[in-house]
Amino acid sequence: MPPYEEYCEEIKDIWDTRWLTNMGEKHELLQKELKEYLKVPYVSLCTNGHSALQVALQALGLQGEIITTPFTFVSTTEAIVRSGCKPVFCDIDPLTYTIDTNKIENLITDKTCAIMPVHVYGNVCDVDKIQHIADKYNLKVIYDAAHAFGVEVGGKGIASFGDVSVFSFHATKVFHTIEGGAICCASKKLFDKINIIRDFGITDSEHVDYIGTNAKMNEFSAAMGICNLRYIDKEILRRKHVYEKYVECLSSIDGITMLNEVQGLKRNYAYFPIIVNASILGVSRDDIQRVLADNGIYTRKYFYPLTNDFSCISSIFDKGQTDVARGVASNVLTLPMFADLRDRDILNICNKIKEML
Ligand SMILES: *Cc1c(COP(=O)(O)O)cnc(C)c1O
Repeated sequence: MPPYEEYCEEIKDIWDTRWLTNMGEKHELLQKELKEYLKVPYVSLCTNGHSALQVALQALGLQGEIITTPFTFVSTTEAIVRSGCKPVFCDIDPLTYTIDTNKIENLITDKTCAIMPVHVYGNVCDVDKIQHIADKYNLKVIYDAAHAFGVEVGGKGIASFGDVSVFSFHATKVFHTIEGGAICCASKKLFDKINIIRDFGITDSEHVDYIGTNAKMNEFSAAMGICNLRYIDKEILRRKHVYEKYVECLSSIDGITMLNEVQGLKRNYAYFPIIVNASILGVSRDDIQRVLADNGIYTRKYFYPLTNDFSCISSIFDKGQTDVARGVASNVLTLPMFADLRDRDILNICNKIKEML
């Protein structure tokens, strides 16, 4: 969170203007600042990441099948279903946990309308290969970039790829507006349509052209975003330190796999996932989670279960062949990761794991 006084100062003039929501001053300022920070032509702020995904899907006018991965937060799959489309599950790459581009083409049918990959943990999807496939089959590409705030590839903002990229600004993400999200795109026409759908489909005071929704960001959330954006580079730098400390402590352990540094990539260190190889370590992912929890250290099986295993999805849709994703989901554990995590706490977490081995 930003300093308390700074947030109070930021919201002070709301008591003068009495402008609480509907694209006020704070909203417009944050939108402008994010456009620059994310290096994208258009940013539309939303209530949350999930509503942003739904608005984006509707604005693209998609109908039919969308190829996606089940190794994600359930929101990705739910947004597809709620937009009236059918999720078709593709497996993931074993190194980046993002969509395996070698397995996409086999899943394309005459009903396929789009690909919806996820930049899992801020790892970057194979954006060039995905665009190549999309161009070849005339498909739209919507990136779930909820994990990828601030990530850049070769100096380009992560949201420069595909037709649309969607961020989440939920309180648990690297950058947050309490609840919030954004849709980024390069087309003015699409941007205009997104803004209309975000506001009930109201085109002007006497016309409603789309069955829209209400996904507008309020002024207090925008003010939180304006404050947090002042600290984002510091935040990511601190997270880098935490990442490096974890790597230093855990890299000697055979049987624990961590994310690798990638050349030409500006990362955001959103999560610290480890993949536990139980046959090498002699202890399982669940064992480690239990022992850490007994010591007051809270980890997440992020992502487990796969979204294609949730009953509300598996009872309606084909699970597809996602064996790599299933393997990762069975063995992944994300360790505590936040900017203020102290070195001695990181050492303590790692030592608790080492003591088990
Ligand atoms: C957080 C998240 C969302 C949903 O965002 P909200 O802002 O919580 O609605 C969607 N997809 C992924 C991958 C996420 O991590």
